[in-house]
Amino acid sequence: MTNEQPGRIVLADPRGFCAGVDRAILTVQTILRSGADTDRARAAGLPPVYVRRQIVHNKHVVEDLSAQGAVFVQELDEIPDEAVAAGIPVVFSAHGVSPEIKAEAARRGMHVVDATCPLVSKVHREVLRFVREGYEIIYIGHRGHDEAVGVVGESPEHVHLIEHESDVDTLEFGESTKLVLLTQTTLSVDETAGTIEALKRRFPWIEMPPNSDICYATSNRQSAVKLVAEQSDCVVIVGSANSSNSVRLMEVAQEGLGERGRAYRVDDASELDSAWFDGVAAVGVSSGASVPDELVGGVVEALQGFGFTEVSTIETIKETMHFVLPAELRR
Ligand code: SF4
Repeated sequence: MTNEQPGRIVLADPRGFCAGVDRAILTVQTILRSGADTDRARAAGLPPVYVRRQIVHNKHVVEDLSAQGAVFVQELDEIPDEAVAAGIPVVFSAHGVSPEIKAEAARRGMHVVDATCPLVSKVHREVLRFVREGYEIIYIGHRGHDEAVGVVGESPEHVHLIEHESDVDTLEFGESTKLVLLTQTTLSVDETAGTIEALKRRFPWIEMPPNSDICYATSNRQSAVKLVAEQSDCVVIVGSANSSNSVRLMEVAQEGLGERGRAYRVDDASELDSAWFDGVAAVGVSSGASVPDELVGGVVEALQGFGFTEVSTIETIKETMHFVLPAELRR
């Protein structure tokens, strides 16, 4: 930044935790705090809870819950029979799982608490309904992402995953095939619009889902960061590299900045580099849906140390979405 004038920080609002992430983290915390059960597990030398995959894609959240006793596993076969027999709960992450994983858990008699975000579950239900009605489903998503793996797993032979507009040419369907489009919840709204146009050109009869599958939190954060980018000459997005919505936010911010500047993604303040801010007068800041606001606070503090002392906020919408805890915990 220039030395003559204090620099500005432009904060995006909404940013950070969405209702699905909030619910997933609270699910694990509720189990960890469930007194007698937790004490019994510890006395038997077992953890109070297992979580399959990262509960949400944020390394700080995972480290924090691990420090409180949660044990994260990649696959269910890492959970010993002894823990299953003792009824130690196994939480499925916010991104959802395929029916195959549910079947494995049922076969082993696991005590499952499903923290899949209700908006992801909605897409699973749509797959099942459209397959029942004889459709082939074109699903825009990121290959290998937990959410996409779970959704495609509902019907691998009828769900055709594509990632980019350029993939549309690889699809072959005749006009007699009923086609419908579904998407991952955390895509870039603008980029997806381009892919949808290409699909409509190639398959004019393709049907759109009743409501967009890109969730409210993803679109709200992208709209806010677009405005923030317009008023900034550099943008910092707080979020982990494996967080789809954080990476999309960075891409949307970069598009908004154009040639004027660069967008960066950091896990936390320790990854900031003061050289990024040479000649920068205003830094935009936002965070992905899985990011605790303390991490944004840390970034703001570090930027203030670099001379960005004025802080303003651009608020585009007030979010009121809230999801109740999974049924297994309410019973
Ligand atoms: S980003 Fe959207 S779909 Fe994903 S957990 Fe949050 S609310 Fe649910």
